[in-house]
Amino acid sequence: MAKKQFKAESKRLLEMMINSIYTQREIFLRELISNASDAIDKIYYKALTDDNLTFNKEDYYVKITADKASRTLTITDTGIGMTKEDLENNLGVIAKSGSLAFKSENEAKDGHNIIGQFGVGFYSAFMVADVVTVTSRALGSDEAFKWESEGAEGYTLTPAEKESIGTEIVLKIKENTEDDQYDEYLEEYRLRAIVKKYSDFIRYPIKMDVKTQ
Ligand code: ADP
Ligand code: MG
Repeated sequence: MAKKQFKAESKRLLEMMINSIYTQREIFLRELISNASDAIDKIYYKALTDDNLTFNKEDYYVKITADKASRTLTITDTGIGMTKEDLENNLGVIAKSGSLAFKSENEAKDGHNIIGQFGVGFYSAFMVADVVTVTSRALGSDEAFKWESEGAEGYTLTPAEKESIGTEIVLKIKENTEDDQYDEYLEEYRLRAIVKKYSDFIRYPIKMDVKTQ
């Protein structure tokens, strides 16, 4: 299947992400949890004005699952989900992310600074993953779609199966190299520490499940 190309600006940011320095990588989890929380907020606010929709608190959460055997870290939410068009429009371009709007050319060259300080969004997943797969089913839709990308080369978008409304993001965590360690993003203690450091204020439950083999 033909790969779709990212817009030029997205490609540049992706490259910046992929080459980011070690100490900033952990913020990818903050970004994905904040997107999950935003997606749940959207259902919450919709339910306030839509009589056909009720918001049962216990149905809304973010779940983090690490599987060492498959080297995958999965972030699941029961939020509003994305249609095929949403996946294309929101994940196929970077301009949506508020973080890029304020940047001058000079700031853009100093990628390290920006990554540490500001919301860099969904693409930060590529700091730790070499494949990112997003499967989503939007509220009100009975079809699901799968967006998949290995980074700057582009992405594919195909029909998928998903039983419930929401989004599942699977990160295929990079292999360790001599200089770079990624195994820690499959370790429960490390994931818990990152969640505590950056996502303590999230108002929905963040559940964790770590499979060791
Ligand atoms: P930002 O959060 O600043 O808008 P991101 O790059 O983090 O930028 O995300 C881009 C967009 O992708 C979001 O605005 C949202 O529309 C969509 N998105 C990302 N993750 C999710 C998710 N888990 N559920 C629903 N939509 C999402
Ligand atoms: Mg975001």
